[in-house]
Amino acid sequence: MNIEELMQSLEVKHPGEKEYLQAVREVLTTIEPVYNEHPEFEKAKIAERLVEPDRIFTFKVPWVDDRGDVQINLGYRIQFNNAIGPYKGGLRFHSSVNLSILKFLGFEQIFKNALTTLPMGGSKGGSDFNPRGKSEGEVMRFCQAFMTELWQHIGADTDVPAGDIGVGSREIGYLYGMYRKLARVNTGVLTGKNLEFGGSLIRPEATGFGGLYFVKQMLETSGMSLKGKTIAISGFGNVAWGAALKATELGAKVVSISGPDGYIYDEKGISGEKIDYMLELRATCNDIVSPYAEKYGAVFVPNRRPWELKVDIALPCATQNELNEEDANLLIQNGVICVGEISNMGCTPEAIELFISHKIMYGPGKAVNAGGVATSGLEMSQNAMHLSWTAEEVDLRLHQIMSEIHAQCLKYGREPDGYINYMKGANVAGFLKVAKAMLAQGVL
Ligand code: GLU
Repeated sequence: MNIEELMQSLEVKHPGEKEYLQAVREVLTTIEPVYNEHPEFEKAKIAERLVEPDRIFTFKVPWVDDRGDVQINLGYRIQFNNAIGPYKGGLRFHSSVNLSILKFLGFEQIFKNALTTLPMGGSKGGSDFNPRGKSEGEVMRFCQAFMTELWQHIGADTDVPAGDIGVGSREIGYLYGMYRKLARVNTGVLTGKNLEFGGSLIRPEATGFGGLYFVKQMLETSGMSLKGKTIAISGFGNVAWGAALKATELGAKVVSISGPDGYIYDEKGISGEKIDYMLELRATCNDIVSPYAEKYGAVFVPNRRPWELKVDIALPCATQNELNEEDANLLIQNGVICVGEISNMGCTPEAIELFISHKIMYGPGKAVNAGGVATSGLEMSQNAMHLSWTAEEVDLRLHQIMSEIHAQCLKYGREPDGYINYMKGANVAGFLKVAKAMLAQGVL
């Protein structure tokens, strides 16, 4: 495989799609040696076929706001690859959403979903609709308008959307209601639903819980434990909430959360009711974290990220490229031992390079945050069987899946000096599964 040639042709075809090109380059670079050991991959042009989505739907989403004004947003669904199962991946509603961001997320989702051991292909979608400051009625009308277009492209065995940034159980409820009305079927189709209409227990917590199960195993592999460790978390949404909850339960101390306005440093630890307060903050739709400081007497550091704190573990839980080279340098200087991306592509390539060259434990998003989509897969299974599992049963399966992902990373990521390159392990394991499926099914 000639990576530079392939990247150049992608850059020409998709100019300026920087997040997408970044995600592709990372995967291709890490799988190159394995790819070259399999001339059959080259012959079937697996890499060239894998980097382009199967298809992209773009549509207009007109809706009426509370003032009676007509608003027009853009909607997308990117069906990337379904070689191992139905397309599966979240919907992101955020003003920054564009084709490049959704393509990077869809591409990552292929490998992440392959790692979960469940039969799910990769897709992603969303809109540049910004839920910040919107009323309940506006959110509902937008979701309904969005689904009026999307419903024709999805289905329980074709493409199964879920949540992501800006899409939680409230939005999933409105989206699902509209789908059910239009399609006249109750087959599940979206995951992350409320319990009353086919949702799974543990799904809201799953991304954060799974992330901590993974980090726990990373530490244990090096003879360490989470007990007594200090953790910096970014974000204050659903993912950060689940991560804080499990980290605290496992004996660690979470000292930060963050928002677009800055970060909170709570020396005493973010535990108990303070964790639940994150949900209250989120529900206000203002997207600011500073009220936490006033309520609990913690420090608020405006316009900065929590990576300048001296902590043992850093867990990005907000968005892509939220931890850069400068942040990585600060964390390393301050003695960080482990970085686990619970957000998708949370670290820049330069930051990752620094962690790996300093032999810091670094877990990439597609392994560390796979617990969310894995539990979505478990929701699909329950829907298909028309039954519900107990919280214990779902949690047990989530545990097993995270252990299996960790084992795959060890298998393909162990370097000759013993260092575990989790990025390489995750990319190679995910890639091999999908590549073999594509090869077996012919040129499509
Ligand atoms: N948006 C989540 C992710 O990035 C969850 C996707 C899903 O549950 O389908 O994996």
